[in-house]
Amino acid sequence: MNMETITIEGIPTAVSRIGLGTWAIGGWMWGGADDASSVAAIRKAIERGINLIDTAPVYGFGHAEEIVGQALKGIRGQAVIATKAALAWPDGKVRRNATAGRIRAEIEDSLRRLRTDHIDLYQVHWPDPLVPHEETALALEKLKQEGKILAIGVSNYSSRQMEGFRRTGHLAAVQSPYNLFERAIEDDVLPYAARSGLVVLAYGALCRGLLSGRMDAHTTFTGDDLRKADPKFREPRFRQYLSAVRALDRYAQERHGRTVLALAVRWILDQGPTIALWGARRPEHLEDVDAALGWRLDEQDLQRIDELLAEHITDPIGPEFMAPPARQIAQPAASGVESSSRVAWP
Ligand code: NAP
Repeated sequence: MNMETITIEGIPTAVSRIGLGTWAIGGWMWGGADDASSVAAIRKAIERGINLIDTAPVYGFGHAEEIVGQALKGIRGQAVIATKAALAWPDGKVRRNATAGRIRAEIEDSLRRLRTDHIDLYQVHWPDPLVPHEETALALEKLKQEGKILAIGVSNYSSRQMEGFRRTGHLAAVQSPYNLFERAIEDDVLPYAARSGLVVLAYGALCRGLLSGRMDAHTTFTGDDLRKADPKFREPRFRQYLSAVRALDRYAQERHGRTVLALAVRWILDQGPTIALWGARRPEHLEDVDAALGWRLDEQDLQRIDELLAEHITDPIGPEFMAPPARQIAQPAASGVESSSRVAWP
């Protein structure tokens, strides 16, 4: 099956509309990783026509980028690398930091780990409320002028924050949480992106594995796996989401002869100028890539899917638990003001 592609302004290569997500390949917050299997998964993605590889320094604190660099050795030209900047962990705690100084330091580390001389898409991982958009945008524009990056993206930004950023810098893409179960961007980011010519990289395409259709009530997670703390994977919601997955799977099988996984990825591709970021850390995770390609959901499908979601999920919840805190602003001793950034991030 031919891969569907999209253009991201600034990147000369046609970009696959399915991108490989490498958060779990970093191991951290996913109960560890098997590097040999991760390398095989990245190579399998390239074989399957997935040229977009999305990663970030924070994924395993450099480990995911190292593994991407290792897997792409000798085939760098076949890949479009998207990585990120603007999170820092000076004392082991992850905090937002979109200062020019942080970005300047991070790009060199990423280029070295990824074994490349340029990043195709460089994204601000989370908006930093302590840094003016102008400072971040100018730092990224300079990297573009130097040829170290080809295109600029942001992640987890609202349309208002993107407007602020675009007063100084040029944006080509936005990365946001988006899947059948997490649809907040439909009210803001998605229409804004469509109007503004931005490509939307939809992250968590399988809702952290729920929409793979391979989980059941007995599925458990080990070590530091973030799904232990994810409210969707805890009762009473876990049962509701699993029952929605079963209903969607029946529908996909009966009407399209496909699985819920293919339906979930197809659904993202049919929502606008989107790329589905599919997290995979074993080559077998990518067996079903072709099943998501070369067909479309019609109005009747979309309506029925919404009905099934409403029938089965009575306590919906978003992915907000994943947001990392900002750095603390020093408060005058007498003010007694507690910064909301003191919330511990897992
Ligand atoms: P995801 O794509 O929704 O789910 C990934 C997980 O689903 C895999 O690790 C695997 O779980 C399971 N899975 C995938 N294919 C499968 C298959 N065929 N059969 C059975 N299980 C399968 O979640 P995600 O990795 O969180 O999101 C995708 C990517 O988006 C990330 O890797 C990252 O690149 C990006 N992202 C960005 C942000 C941001 O703030 N910008 C935030 C989150 C994610 P197991 O490995 O446990 O089997």
